[in-house]
Amino acid sequence: MTRKQIHLLTQQTISEDLGQVEYILTDKTGTLTENKMIFRRCCIAGTLYGNESGDALKDVELLNAVADNLPHVIKFLTVMALCNTVIPIKSPSGTISYKAQSQDEDALVNAASNLHVVLVSKNGNNAEIHFNRRVIQYEILDILEFTSDRKRMSVVISDSQSGKIFLLSKGADEAILPLAYSGQQIKTFVDAVDKYAQLGLRTLCLGWRELSLEEYLEWSRLFKEANSALVDREWKVAEVCQKLEHSLDILGISAIEDRLQDGVPETIEILRQSGINFWMLTGDKQSTAIQIALLCNLISSEPKGQLLYINGKTEDEVARSLERVLLTMRITSSEPKELAFVVDGWALEIILTRYKEAFTELAVLSKTAICCRVTPSQKAQLVKLLKSCDYRTLAIGDGGNDVRMIQQAHIGVGISGREGLQAARAADYSIGKFRFLKRLILVHGRYSYNRTAFLSQYSFYKSLLICFIQILFSFVSGIAGTSLFNSVSLMAYNVFYTSIPVLTTVLDKDLSEKTVTQNPEILLYCQAGRLLNPSTFAGWFGRSLYHAIVVFLITIHAYANEKSEMEELSMVALSGSIWLQAFVVTLEMSFWQYGETSLLSTS
Ligand SMILES: [Mg+2]
Repeated sequence: MTRKQIHLLTQQTISEDLGQVEYILTDKTGTLTENKMIFRRCCIAGTLYGNESGDALKDVELLNAVADNLPHVIKFLTVMALCNTVIPIKSPSGTISYKAQSQDEDALVNAASNLHVVLVSKNGNNAEIHFNRRVIQYEILDILEFTSDRKRMSVVISDSQSGKIFLLSKGADEAILPLAYSGQQIKTFVDAVDKYAQLGLRTLCLGWRELSLEEYLEWSRLFKEANSALVDREWKVAEVCQKLEHSLDILGISAIEDRLQDGVPETIEILRQSGINFWMLTGDKQSTAIQIALLCNLISSEPKGQLLYINGKTEDEVARSLERVLLTMRITSSEPKELAFVVDGWALEIILTRYKEAFTELAVLSKTAICCRVTPSQKAQLVKLLKSCDYRTLAIGDGGNDVRMIQQAHIGVGISGREGLQAARAADYSIGKFRFLKRLILVHGRYSYNRTAFLSQYSFYKSLLICFIQILFSFVSGIAGTSLFNSVSLMAYNVFYTSIPVLTTVLDKDLSEKTVTQNPEILLYCQAGRLLNPSTFAGWFGRSLYHAIVVFLITIHAYANEKSEMEELSMVALSGSIWLQAFVVTLEMSFWQYGETSLLSTS
């Protein structure tokens, strides 16, 4: 086992729960994907680049456009290089690296630099760009920050040479495209966004506008006022930002690839075979989420699978849509078709507040779900909902936005990735990659469940055994209250004789790790709680009573006609109990079955 594969356990009590997981709620970016963004394609002024090679940076057409100084392409690259909060760092050897808050920004700045629009330095409010051996200085006047409500960010810059002021904006398509100046044709951009999303790429829309000095000064005054407001500052700032962000010249669409982690489709496939249901909860847009879900075997394409959409623009539409999906789910639940439902954050908000009962029924019927554009609190609410249906849940995520979901679930798993250690610290288990979840659940979870089930019931058994002998003895002694065993014997029985043999179960394995991972259906046995339930407990209870009667009768019978000391009687009964419980431990050890199955598989 390599160091990366070692699972860090932060809590001891939930190991056996791992073997009984029924629902896994997973984040997308950084959990299923690598969170390593690579600029792949773009659409500038209606021309799609990178379609043939799959890499826009190697597209000769785009390289020629840059060399020919095509104005729209240069504007697009300038927005890529400047509309961000990235900080360039120059090493002593002269190479420039970028420090970015988000992986998307890092990918865009690096792509611009590869296309010869290089962000060289940022000192305070001054940014320097190198392009075609020219140095262009810009002054960054204001930054209109990104928020999850606005879904866009903007930067106001002034060209130091010409003195012109520009507004550069980038953001989600639904946040930027409606801001296009009246008369601009945006159909090609809408088509490009759809096309890229279907390929599973993350899209960002870029736009810009020249501002007059008067307009900027007027706005700047309002912006400063809003920023210094003491009440409702966030809301006021957002409102002022909106006043500037309009009539944009939409420059194009960038498409960034975030690859799936190694082994994700296989892991999901195996865990689903073991009867675990998957829900994907993501902040990303619907089409990208569906594409990633298809790629990682979470859902199947038609005709094997079917996606049911819960959507609508008004509350009534959402309610009707939910009813329709529920009806379809009820009718087709007996068919072998893989059904999954898709819901977005807005519809989910309405559903969770007004139609919780119907949604709970849907959650029980549906094995797979994709929830898009959800907030961290909605993620936690969904975990809570599944918990209320008595399902054992596991939540896995990598970022700070997954912490609430991780803490809400029975078992929280954090991935220590590029988003920092926030999720990993809040979780019960921390792993390096999603694929290690397979081993964590199937191997560690299953063994832990088996061992805990045996150990807890065995502890009752061995204590009851000695108790029943005492009770039986009390009948013979005329209920005199005399103890058959002395206190030293009882202490030695509990502390020494019965606790040492059972330690062997710590390493006990009924099946090899390989067999378990190759036949994940075995986990269904654990999920159903077949090893630890009232009937197995009754079995152990009966066993202890029966053993007590046997030990007691033999002891009494052997000494019935002899005049013997009670001490001798006590020792015989005690050693009988010790041998019997040691025999039970040996008998219950799965090692024998393991040896047998190994022999069978080798022969
Ligand atoms: Mg994430």
